[in-house]
Amino acid sequence: MTPNVLSTDSKILTEKDLQNEKSSITTKMIDAENYTQNRSKNYTKTEGWFKMEPKWFNILNISFLNLYFIYACFTFDFFENLLTTAWLFIMYILAGLGTTAGTHRLWTHQAYKAKWQFRVILGVLYASAGMNDIFEWVRDHRVHHKYTDTDADPHNSNRGFFFSHVGWLMMKKHPDVIRRGCEVDMSDVLADPVAVFNIKYFPILKFMFAFLLPVMLPVYAWNETWYRAFVSQDIIRYVSLLNAIWSVNSAAHIWGSKPYNAHINPTENRWVNFFSAGEGLHNYHHVFPWDYKAAELHGFITTAFINFFAKIGWAYDLKEPSKELVESVIRKKGDGSHSLWEAVPYPAISKIELKK
Ligand SMILES: [Zn+2]
Ligand SMILES: [Zn+2]
Repeated sequence: MTPNVLSTDSKILTEKDLQNEKSSITTKMIDAENYTQNRSKNYTKTEGWFKMEPKWFNILNISFLNLYFIYACFTFDFFENLLTTAWLFIMYILAGLGTTAGTHRLWTHQAYKAKWQFRVILGVLYASAGMNDIFEWVRDHRVHHKYTDTDADPHNSNRGFFFSHVGWLMMKKHPDVIRRGCEVDMSDVLADPVAVFNIKYFPILKFMFAFLLPVMLPVYAWNETWYRAFVSQDIIRYVSLLNAIWSVNSAAHIWGSKPYNAHINPTENRWVNFFSAGEGLHNYHHVFPWDYKAAELHGFITTAFINFFAKIGWAYDLKEPSKELVESVIRKKGDGSHSLWEAVPYPAISKIELKK
Protein backbone atom coordinates (compact mmCIF):
# COMPACT_ATOMS: atom_id res chain seq x y z
CA MET A 1 0.00 0.00 0.00
CA THR A 2 1.50 3.32 -0.97
CA PRO A 3 1.55 5.80 1.87
CA ASN A 4 0.07 8.56 -0.22
CA VAL A 5 -3.27 6.88 -0.61
CA LEU A 6 -3.75 5.95 3.02
CA SER A 7 -6.38 8.54 3.73
CA THR A 8 -8.34 7.81 0.56
CA ASP A 9 -11.00 6.19 2.58
CA SER A 10 -13.73 5.59 0.09
CA LYS A 11 -14.05 5.96 -3.67
CA ILE A 12 -17.81 6.33 -3.24
CA LEU A 13 -19.03 9.71 -4.44
CA THR A 14 -22.65 9.05 -5.19
CA GLU A 15 -25.22 6.49 -4.18
CA LYS A 16 -24.88 4.96 -7.63
CA ASP A 17 -21.22 4.27 -6.89
CA LEU A 18 -22.27 2.65 -3.67
CA GLN A 19 -24.65 0.31 -5.47
CA ASN A 20 -22.02 -0.44 -8.08
CA GLU A 21 -19.56 -1.40 -5.43
CA LYS A 22 -22.18 -3.92 -4.20
CA SER A 23 -20.95 -3.48 -0.70
CA SER A 24 -21.89 -1.26 2.16
CA ILE A 25 -19.69 1.57 3.32
CA THR A 26 -18.98 -0.35 6.46
CA THR A 27 -17.43 -3.28 4.67
CA LYS A 28 -15.77 -0.99 2.15
CA MET A 29 -13.77 0.69 4.84
CA ILE A 30 -10.33 -0.67 5.30
CA ASP A 31 -9.55 -2.02 8.72
CA ALA A 32 -8.81 0.73 11.19
CA GLU A 33 -5.73 -1.11 12.30
CA ASN A 34 -4.06 -0.26 9.02
CA TYR A 35 -4.40 3.40 9.65
CA THR A 36 -2.88 5.91 11.93
CA GLN A 37 -4.47 9.07 13.20
CA ASN A 38 -1.24 10.92 12.91
CA ARG A 39 -1.51 13.30 9.97
CA SER A 40 2.20 13.51 9.32
CA LYS A 41 2.54 9.73 9.29
CA ASN A 42 -0.50 9.46 7.04
CA TYR A 43 1.13 11.28 4.19
CA THR A 44 4.60 10.92 2.81
CA LYS A 45 5.69 13.96 0.93
CA THR A 46 6.98 12.91 -2.44
CA GLU A 47 10.25 14.24 -3.77
CA GLY A 48 9.77 17.75 -5.10
CA TRP A 49 6.29 18.09 -3.52
CA PHE A 50 7.10 21.68 -2.58
CA LYS A 51 8.09 22.66 -6.09
CA MET A 52 5.43 24.91 -7.46
CA GLU A 53 4.85 26.96 -10.53
CA PRO A 54 3.15 30.18 -9.52
CA LYS A 55 0.12 31.54 -11.33
CA TRP A 56 1.05 35.20 -11.02
CA PHE A 57 -2.29 36.61 -12.15
CA ASN A 58 -4.11 34.61 -9.48
CA ILE A 59 -1.54 35.51 -6.81
CA LEU A 60 -1.94 39.22 -7.49
CA ASN A 61 -5.71 39.05 -7.94
CA ILE A 62 -6.42 37.00 -4.81
CA SER A 63 -3.96 38.99 -2.68
CA PHE A 64 -5.42 42.32 -3.82
CA LEU A 65 -8.99 41.16 -3.16
CA ASN A 66 -8.18 39.86 0.31
CA LEU A 67 -6.23 42.98 1.30
CA TYR A 68 -9.05 45.18 0.00
CA PHE A 69 -11.49 43.00 1.97
CA ILE A 70 -9.57 43.58 5.22
CA TYR A 71 -9.42 47.34 4.54
CA ALA A 72 -13.14 47.40 3.66
CA CYS A 73 -14.18 45.54 6.81
CA PHE A 74 -12.56 48.26 8.94
CA THR A 75 -13.71 51.26 6.92
CA PHE A 76 -17.17 50.33 5.57
CA ASP A 77 -20.00 51.80 7.63
CA PHE A 78 -22.43 48.88 7.94
CA PHE A 79 -24.99 51.11 9.71
CA GLU A 80 -25.12 53.91 7.17
CA ASN A 81 -27.80 52.14 5.15
CA LEU A 82 -29.23 48.99 6.66
CA LEU A 83 -30.83 47.96 3.38
CA THR A 84 -27.38 47.72 1.80
CA THR A 85 -26.13 45.67 4.74
CA ALA A 86 -29.17 43.39 4.60
CA TRP A 87 -28.63 42.94 0.85
CA LEU A 88 -25.02 41.98 1.56
CA PHE A 89 -26.17 39.16 3.89
CA ILE A 90 -28.95 38.05 1.53
CA MET A 91 -26.55 37.76 -1.42
CA TYR A 92 -24.01 35.95 0.79
CA ILE A 93 -26.61 33.32 1.64
CA LEU A 94 -28.04 33.02 -1.90
CA ALA A 95 -24.62 32.69 -3.55
CA GLY A 96 -23.62 30.22 -0.82
CA LEU A 97 -26.72 28.12 -1.49
CA GLY A 98 -25.92 28.02 -5.21
CA THR A 99 -22.60 26.47 -4.32
CA THR A 100 -23.67 24.13 -1.52
CA ALA A 101 -27.05 22.93 -2.85
CA GLY A 102 -26.10 23.33 -6.52
CA THR A 103 -22.56 22.51 -7.60
CA HIS A 104 -21.80 20.51 -4.48
CA ARG A 105 -24.76 18.36 -3.46
CA LEU A 106 -26.60 18.24 -6.80
CA TRP A 107 -24.03 18.36 -9.60
CA THR A 108 -21.05 16.76 -7.84
CA HIS A 109 -22.69 14.17 -5.61
CA GLN A 110 -26.12 13.64 -7.24
CA ALA A 111 -27.42 13.56 -3.68
CA TYR A 112 -30.88 14.48 -5.00
CA LYS A 113 -32.55 15.19 -8.30
CA ALA A 114 -33.87 18.59 -9.35
CA LYS A 115 -36.37 19.72 -11.98
CA TRP A 116 -35.06 22.13 -14.61
CA GLN A 117 -36.68 25.12 -12.90
CA PHE A 118 -34.74 24.47 -9.71
CA ARG A 119 -31.54 23.76 -11.66
CA VAL A 120 -31.89 27.13 -13.41
CA ILE A 121 -32.23 28.85 -10.03
CA LEU A 122 -29.21 26.95 -8.68
CA GLY A 123 -27.18 27.83 -11.78
CA VAL A 124 -27.94 31.54 -11.38
CA LEU A 125 -27.21 31.47 -7.65
CA TYR A 126 -23.97 29.58 -8.26
CA ALA A 127 -22.87 32.13 -10.89
CA SER A 128 -23.44 34.85 -8.28
CA ALA A 129 -20.76 33.29 -6.06
CA GLY A 130 -18.16 34.21 -8.70
CA MET A 131 -16.08 31.02 -8.57
CA ASN A 132 -14.82 28.62 -11.30
CA ASP A 133 -17.42 27.23 -13.71
CA ILE A 134 -19.54 24.20 -12.80
CA PHE A 135 -17.43 21.77 -14.84
CA GLU A 136 -14.20 22.76 -13.14
CA TRP A 137 -15.76 22.87 -9.67
CA VAL A 138 -17.40 19.45 -9.99
CA ARG A 139 -14.31 17.82 -11.50
CA ASP A 140 -12.00 19.21 -8.79
CA HIS A 141 -14.38 18.22 -6.03
CA ARG A 142 -14.81 14.69 -7.35
CA VAL A 143 -11.04 14.29 -7.46
CA HIS A 144 -10.89 15.69 -3.92
CA HIS A 145 -13.27 12.98 -2.66
CA LYS A 146 -11.60 10.17 -4.58
CA TYR A 147 -8.05 11.02 -3.59
CA THR A 148 -8.58 12.97 -0.38
CA ASP A 149 -5.40 14.44 1.08
CA THR A 150 -3.04 12.83 -1.38
CA ASP A 151 -0.98 14.47 -4.13
CA ALA A 152 -3.93 13.93 -6.49
CA ASP A 153 -6.19 16.04 -4.25
CA PRO A 154 -6.33 19.60 -5.70
CA HIS A 155 -6.30 21.05 -2.16
CA ASN A 156 -4.41 18.37 -0.28
CA SER A 157 -4.62 19.47 3.38
CA ASN A 158 -1.40 17.61 4.19
CA ARG A 159 0.38 20.47 2.43
CA GLY A 160 -0.78 22.81 5.20
CA PHE A 161 -3.53 25.27 5.97
CA PHE A 162 -2.50 27.93 3.46
CA PHE A 163 -2.18 25.54 0.53
CA SER A 164 -5.54 23.86 1.15
CA HIS A 165 -7.28 27.18 1.81
CA VAL A 166 -6.15 29.31 -1.10
CA GLY A 167 -2.56 28.47 -2.06
CA TRP A 168 -3.72 25.73 -4.45
CA LEU A 169 -5.42 28.37 -6.59
CA MET A 170 -2.19 30.36 -6.81
CA MET A 171 -0.06 27.69 -8.44
CA LYS A 172 -0.18 25.18 -11.25
CA LYS A 173 -1.75 21.86 -10.32
CA HIS A 174 0.31 18.86 -9.21
CA PRO A 175 0.68 16.40 -12.15
CA ASP A 176 -1.33 13.78 -10.22
CA VAL A 177 -4.25 16.22 -9.89
CA ILE A 178 -4.26 16.78 -13.64
CA ARG A 179 -3.94 13.07 -14.40
CA ARG A 180 -6.77 12.07 -12.05
CA GLY A 181 -8.85 15.06 -13.13
CA CYS A 182 -8.80 13.79 -16.72
CA GLU A 183 -10.11 10.41 -15.54
CA VAL A 184 -13.17 11.83 -13.78
CA ASP A 185 -16.48 10.83 -15.36
CA MET A 186 -18.30 14.08 -16.09
CA SER A 187 -20.91 12.61 -18.45
CA ASP A 188 -23.79 13.29 -16.02
CA VAL A 189 -22.96 17.00 -15.84
CA LEU A 190 -22.54 17.24 -19.61
CA ALA A 191 -25.90 15.51 -20.07
CA ASP A 192 -27.65 18.29 -18.16
CA PRO A 193 -28.55 21.12 -20.58
CA VAL A 194 -28.90 23.62 -17.73
CA ALA A 195 -25.36 22.87 -16.51
CA VAL A 196 -23.98 22.92 -20.07
CA PHE A 197 -25.58 26.31 -20.77
CA ASN A 198 -24.15 27.61 -17.50
CA ILE A 199 -20.67 26.34 -18.36
CA LYS A 200 -20.78 27.69 -21.92
CA TYR A 201 -21.82 31.21 -20.95
CA PHE A 202 -20.17 31.25 -17.55
CA PRO A 203 -17.96 34.35 -17.96
CA ILE A 204 -20.95 36.54 -18.85
CA LEU A 205 -23.26 34.90 -16.27
CA LYS A 206 -20.61 35.33 -13.58
CA PHE A 207 -20.04 38.98 -14.44
CA MET A 208 -23.76 39.72 -14.45
CA PHE A 209 -24.93 37.79 -11.40
CA ALA A 210 -21.86 38.03 -9.18
CA PHE A 211 -20.59 41.53 -9.86
CA LEU A 212 -22.99 43.71 -11.87
CA LEU A 213 -26.63 43.13 -10.87
CA PRO A 214 -25.96 42.87 -7.10
CA VAL A 215 -24.28 46.30 -7.27
CA MET A 216 -26.94 47.88 -9.49
CA LEU A 217 -29.86 46.92 -7.24
CA PRO A 218 -28.91 49.07 -4.21
CA VAL A 219 -28.00 51.99 -6.48
CA TYR A 220 -31.31 52.02 -8.36
CA ALA A 221 -33.63 50.64 -5.68
CA TRP A 222 -32.62 52.73 -2.66
CA ASN A 223 -30.16 55.33 -3.94
CA GLU A 224 -27.01 53.76 -2.52
CA THR A 225 -23.74 55.20 -3.86
CA TRP A 226 -21.92 53.20 -6.52
CA TYR A 227 -18.86 52.94 -4.31
CA ARG A 228 -20.67 51.57 -1.25
CA ALA A 229 -22.68 49.17 -3.40
CA PHE A 230 -19.46 47.96 -5.05
CA VAL A 231 -17.53 47.50 -1.79
CA SER A 232 -20.39 45.75 0.01
CA GLN A 233 -21.08 43.29 -2.81
CA ASP A 234 -17.95 42.83 -4.90
CA ILE A 235 -15.48 42.99 -2.05
CA ILE A 236 -17.02 42.18 1.35
CA ARG A 237 -19.70 39.70 0.26
CA TYR A 238 -17.63 38.08 -2.50
CA VAL A 239 -14.38 37.64 -0.55
CA SER A 240 -16.04 36.56 2.72
CA LEU A 241 -18.02 33.85 0.92
CA LEU A 242 -14.92 32.65 -0.94
CA ASN A 243 -13.09 32.29 2.36
CA ALA A 244 -16.04 30.48 3.94
CA ILE A 245 -16.13 27.93 1.10
CA TRP A 246 -12.33 27.59 1.13
CA SER A 247 -12.47 26.88 4.89
CA VAL A 248 -14.25 23.61 4.15
CA ASN A 249 -11.08 22.47 2.37
CA SER A 250 -8.69 23.87 4.97
CA ALA A 251 -10.09 24.30 8.51
CA ALA A 252 -12.57 21.40 8.15
CA HIS A 253 -9.67 19.14 7.18
CA ILE A 254 -7.52 20.20 10.13
CA TRP A 255 -9.49 21.21 13.24
CA GLY A 256 -12.47 19.41 14.75
CA SER A 257 -13.76 16.05 15.89
CA LYS A 258 -14.07 12.87 13.83
CA PRO A 259 -17.17 11.02 15.09
CA TYR A 260 -17.67 9.02 11.89
CA ASN A 261 -14.15 8.10 10.85
CA ALA A 262 -11.17 8.88 13.04
CA HIS A 263 -8.74 7.77 10.37
CA ILE A 264 -9.24 10.50 7.78
CA ASN A 265 -8.37 14.21 7.95
CA PRO A 266 -11.85 15.75 7.41
CA THR A 267 -13.44 16.97 10.64
CA GLU A 268 -16.69 18.27 12.10
CA ASN A 269 -16.08 21.99 12.38
CA ARG A 270 -19.02 24.03 13.68
CA TRP A 271 -17.51 27.42 12.78
CA VAL A 272 -16.99 26.37 9.19
CA ASN A 273 -20.48 24.89 9.23
CA PHE A 274 -21.98 28.20 10.33
CA PHE A 275 -20.22 30.32 7.71
CA SER A 276 -20.58 27.83 4.86
CA ALA A 277 -24.36 27.37 5.14
CA GLY A 278 -24.06 23.83 6.52
CA GLU A 279 -21.01 22.30 4.84
CA GLY A 280 -18.66 22.10 7.81
CA LEU A 281 -19.73 18.73 9.19
CA HIS A 282 -17.10 17.41 6.89
CA ASN A 283 -16.09 14.18 8.61
CA TYR A 284 -19.64 12.94 8.05
CA HIS A 285 -19.67 14.25 4.49
CA HIS A 286 -16.53 12.35 3.51
CA VAL A 287 -18.02 9.13 4.89
CA PHE A 288 -21.46 9.65 3.33
CA PRO A 289 -20.86 12.05 0.40
CA TRP A 290 -24.13 11.10 -1.27
CA ASP A 291 -26.31 12.20 1.69
CA TYR A 292 -28.21 15.31 0.50
CA LYS A 293 -27.98 16.78 4.03
CA ALA A 294 -24.13 16.67 4.12
CA ALA A 295 -24.68 16.05 7.81
CA GLU A 296 -26.28 13.39 9.97
CA LEU A 297 -29.09 15.67 11.11
CA HIS A 298 -31.48 18.10 9.46
CA GLY A 299 -31.58 21.72 10.48
CA PHE A 300 -28.86 23.45 8.50
CA ILE A 301 -29.69 26.12 5.99
CA THR A 302 -28.77 24.31 2.76
CA THR A 303 -30.75 21.25 3.81
CA ALA A 304 -33.76 23.42 4.71
CA PHE A 305 -33.46 25.07 1.29
CA ILE A 306 -33.49 21.69 -0.51
CA ASN A 307 -36.33 20.49 1.74
CA PHE A 308 -38.38 23.52 0.73
CA PHE A 309 -37.95 22.71 -2.98
CA ALA A 310 -38.71 19.06 -2.24
CA LYS A 311 -42.02 20.21 -0.72
CA ILE A 312 -43.05 21.97 -3.93
CA GLY A 313 -41.85 19.01 -6.00
CA TRP A 314 -38.86 20.67 -7.68
CA ALA A 315 -36.35 18.52 -5.75
CA TYR A 316 -36.90 14.78 -5.38
CA ASP A 317 -35.19 11.47 -4.77
CA LEU A 318 -33.35 12.86 -1.76
CA LYS A 319 -30.70 10.34 -0.71
CA GLU A 320 -29.80 9.45 2.88
CA PRO A 321 -28.13 6.50 4.53
CA SER A 322 -30.13 4.45 7.02
CA LYS A 323 -29.84 5.28 10.71
CA GLU A 324 -28.48 1.77 11.32
CA LEU A 325 -25.68 2.22 8.80
CA VAL A 326 -24.66 5.56 10.30
CA GLU A 327 -24.67 4.11 13.82
CA SER A 328 -22.63 1.09 12.83
CA VAL A 329 -20.04 3.34 11.16
CA ILE A 330 -19.88 5.55 14.27
CA ARG A 331 -19.25 2.49 16.46
CA LYS A 332 -16.68 0.96 14.15
CA LYS A 333 -14.72 3.95 12.91
CA GLY A 334 -15.54 7.02 14.99
CA ASP A 335 -13.26 8.78 17.48
CA GLY A 336 -15.82 8.38 20.30
CA SER A 337 -16.96 12.02 20.25
CA HIS A 338 -20.44 11.25 18.90
CA SER A 339 -23.35 11.73 21.30
CA LEU A 340 -24.29 8.12 20.61
CA TRP A 341 -21.57 7.06 23.01
CA GLU A 342 -23.18 9.06 25.83
CA ALA A 343 -26.10 6.65 25.72
CA VAL A 344 -23.80 3.68 26.33
CA PRO A 345 -23.90 2.92 30.07
CA TYR A 346 -20.65 2.66 31.96
CA PRO A 347 -19.76 -0.93 32.80
CA ALA A 348 -21.17 -1.71 36.21
CA ILE A 349 -18.48 -1.71 38.85
CA SER A 350 -18.93 -4.60 41.19
CA LYS A 351 -19.25 -3.93 44.89
CA ILE A 352 -16.30 -6.19 45.56
CA GLU A 353 -14.13 -3.99 43.34
CA LEU A 354 -15.33 -0.87 45.15
CA LYS A 355 -14.41 -2.33 48.52
CA LYS A 356 -10.83 -2.92 47.43
ZN1 LIG B 1 -13.07 17.57 1.95
ZN1 LIG C 1 -18.32 16.81 -1.32
